[in-house]
Amino acid sequence: MTITVPPVHRRPGLPDRVTIWEVGPRDGLQNEAAAVPVAVKAELVERLVGAGLAVVEVTSFVHPSWVPQLADAEDLYGALSHTIAESPGVRFPALVANLAGLERAQSCGVTDVCVFASATESFARRNLNRSRDDALCMFAPVVAEATGAGMGVRAYVSMCFGDPWEGTVDEDDVVAVCERLLEMGCDELSLGDTIGVATSGQVTDLLDALGRRGIGTDRLAVHFHDTYGQALANTLVSLEAGVTTVDSSAGGIGGCPFAGSATGNLATEDLCWALAGAGVETGVDLGSLVATSTWMAAQLGRPSPSKVVQALAGDEERP
Ligand code: MG
Repeated sequence: MTITVPPVHRRPGLPDRVTIWEVGPRDGLQNEAAAVPVAVKAELVERLVGAGLAVVEVTSFVHPSWVPQLADAEDLYGALSHTIAESPGVRFPALVANLAGLERAQSCGVTDVCVFASATESFARRNLNRSRDDALCMFAPVVAEATGAGMGVRAYVSMCFGDPWEGTVDEDDVVAVCERLLEMGCDELSLGDTIGVATSGQVTDLLDALGRRGIGTDRLAVHFHDTYGQALANTLVSLEAGVTTVDSSAGGIGGCPFAGSATGNLATEDLCWALAGAGVETGVDLGSLVATSTWMAAQLGRPSPSKVVQALAGDEERP
């Protein structure tokens, strides 16, 4: 008999409830080679909301030549208009890179946006085509405009733990970038381990360093990649340190763009299994989520890298 729900053993030190910030439709699909039709993207978002996810990052309003996979942002929000109207309390954020992107998002009725900063100089130059400071300057008017319009603003901080061109990242650099983003008015910072190299002690060291500068875990989310198999361990120590918002991708979709391996984002199912077993509420129905990721894997033409999806999806075929 397959165990489809983990036995619950409450772990002291973990929060009662965690908000999962589902990044699959945006961060996942932007790293997939396959072009996904807008109807499939809309169905993915709808099914994720149906599975109980309260935040589903939908897409990016960036120039189509940067991320051709997400060039259909307007069409996708159009296709989701009923779902959004009928889902009070669910957030449907989008990534924006500049004021033009923010305007596009606003014209689609988007209420929460994200900007994408880098803790390192090399990644800023390669991903944003400008220096780290210039990139921050580019975001300042976007954040001001969005907060002025009453929108929620999250900032992703990528390469917080390691950088493929610079190696280990200096904690002080991460702290400085985080301070700048909060000064600009961002509500929340998502600390990204973009190449998945962090280990648990490094994570608590960075959270401690941020705390010493007055940046509490109430302003922080964590975004781990499973490239080296550390994403869940790093997430759990972050929760023990007080973080209550975690980014993950349904089915673990989205390969790591800089590591040449199939594993990228922490899979939402793997996160949900661990949290359910620890008695931490997420509001997510694991069975619905696994069914969604199994369906999405068929759309993408490759199996989900999520261990929990693999364990549960073939359930009916086993004795
Ligand atoms: Mg990611």
